[in-house]
Amino acid sequence: MLPALFISHGSPMLAIEDSAARRFLAGLGTRLGRPDAIVVASGHWETPVPALNAMAVNETIHDFYGFPDALYALDYPAPGSREVANRAAELLGEAALPAAIAPRRGLDHGAWMPLLLMYPEADIPVVQISLQHHLGPAHHIAVGRALAPLRKEGVLVIGSGTFTHNLGLMNRAEPDSPPTPDTLAFAQWMDAALREHRTADLADYRRQAPYAVRHHPRDEHLLPLFVAYGAGGDGSQVERLHDSTSYGTQRMDAYAFN
Ligand code: ZN
Repeated sequence: MLPALFISHGSPMLAIEDSAARRFLAGLGTRLGRPDAIVVASGHWETPVPALNAMAVNETIHDFYGFPDALYALDYPAPGSREVANRAAELLGEAALPAAIAPRRGLDHGAWMPLLLMYPEADIPVVQISLQHHLGPAHHIAVGRALAPLRKEGVLVIGSGTFTHNLGLMNRAEPDSPPTPDTLAFAQWMDAALREHRTADLADYRRQAPYAVRHHPRDEHLLPLFVAYGAGGDGSQVERLHDSTSYGTQRMDAYAFN
């Protein structure tokens, strides 16, 4: 049975600029082995109800602006899978979460950029699932729970966000500056809540976690964590695979839920 993963993708510069998080992701595919397919939620696609994309060959969406030309030249033409999209939609339907199929939507950079590092051959079928920001963490835990059976069917379930994400707080002049105390406090609270399976606290993290709103003014980049946590299931073994900080306030932590 495959783990469910949460990974932090951070800035689009991840794809071309050396960092601890980049080195971690570049080794992660080999460490995990090759799944039959991947279902990935990213912080960059929101729809009113869960949607699964299903293109024959995924379009690479370059949904970022003002970055070096090299980033726009990158391509990740992984196959899609109507079969996996339908199976995911079926599982969501069984959990009273009706889902839609999006036949013309490709992969945004939150989905393809980490996969480019993990599985650079782009030959594993990838299906992206959308977020419903207005429904909050508990909904995304439920979405993950519904998808959990995929892990027994050779499908790697990934949530791709960023563990702390406030572009206005980033110390861009010093990419390697150490984490600020409030950044650490938030990361430590989340880490403990995940390890202790405090699901109710996690669902209420915006009120309970220190500096939660400061580090997630809008929390689309944390919601993929809840999908992964839900897909891990109750009592999952929680393993922090990676932790690092970019720009002083951007945590790049990654977790496996087994
Ligand atoms: Zn992002």
